[in-house]
Amino acid sequence: MAARTISRCFVVSTRSYSSKTDKNVAFLGLGNMGGYMAANLVKKGFNVRGYDPSKDALTAASKNGITGATSIAAAVDGADVVVSILPSNKVVLDAYLGKDGVVKHVPKGSLLIDSSTVDPNVPKQIFPVATESGVGFIDAPVSGGVMGAQNATLAFMVGGNKDDFDRSLPMLQAMGAKHFHCGGSGAGQVAKLSNNMLMGITGMATAECMNMGIKMGLDPKVLLDVLNNSSARSWSTEVYCPVPGLVPTAPSSRDYDGGFKNELMVKDLELASSMALGIRSPIPLGAVATQLYRIVQSRGYGQKDFSFIYQLLKEEAAKK
Ligand code: NAD
Repeated sequence: MAARTISRCFVVSTRSYSSKTDKNVAFLGLGNMGGYMAANLVKKGFNVRGYDPSKDALTAASKNGITGATSIAAAVDGADVVVSILPSNKVVLDAYLGKDGVVKHVPKGSLLIDSSTVDPNVPKQIFPVATESGVGFIDAPVSGGVMGAQNATLAFMVGGNKDDFDRSLPMLQAMGAKHFHCGGSGAGQVAKLSNNMLMGITGMATAECMNMGIKMGLDPKVLLDVLNNSSARSWSTEVYCPVPGLVPTAPSSRDYDGGFKNELMVKDLELASSMALGIRSPIPLGAVATQLYRIVQSRGYGQKDFSFIYQLLKEEAAKK
């Protein structure tokens, strides 16, 4: 069983060590996250050649010193390392294992780092094919959002061989602040999906309970102060309060824009639910959270931060 083979996560110090000097990086997926991550690699002295089917993404990346390529094959030609951050299971599998994909075209001895959020079975399919072809592969999903990508403060959760993790550190350190080796192939995705399901559940619970207390007449500021100094305190109450105007840096205080989109929360909860179903791990709260965030999306608020769920509950409470 996959879950039994996964060892505990541990934090690795910021010491930089590499089995060889990796300088040439191919970067696939120059979107909201990848655009900034590739730019940070350039800032740290890596030569970065990028590929994205979106011309706008390529043009924006070229302004940050990334050389554009017209295909995956052209991007990975001569690369020491490939980094990708792509939208879905299918796109990642096609990009790595497709007939024009990375594994067919990348030089032997290179290292492949996929930072997309996908089903743990995706890296588990790519890993043996990559190994057979003489290249290393790690799953390295990230936490920290677009701001973390921009400021190079992302947390990387890595699954794969320890040697490949060690080799990836100079690149991961250029793009992030924390790096965890979580176990074998797929373990990074398991850690990421577990984290995001818990974030979705605590976000939903915070919105629900704050809405109730405020509707009962409590001053929202007083209520938040109580929660932050009592047993219900969490990242949601301290950093990401769903009630507008209480935490100035939270997305709720800027009309729920510029955070972690509700549609991405739905994607991650669906991936986590499918993983849980596969091992028959009960997720009653995760299932409710998935449904609630789906409702937010179906009402047309998929682009808003996931803490927008508070507005939906508030609307319900206002009904007689
Ligand atoms: P995005 O849609 O902004 O970017 C994805 C990019 O991939 C797009 O520019 C798209 O054109 C490109 N792309 C599609 N197919 C491609 C291919 N075959 N080769 C190369 N590029 C291709 O998405 P994003 O917000 O940057 O998210 C990317 C991944 O990161 C997702 O898996 C997401 O779940 C994960 N993630 C996102 C955040 C966030 O806050 N946005 C946080 C953590 C993790």
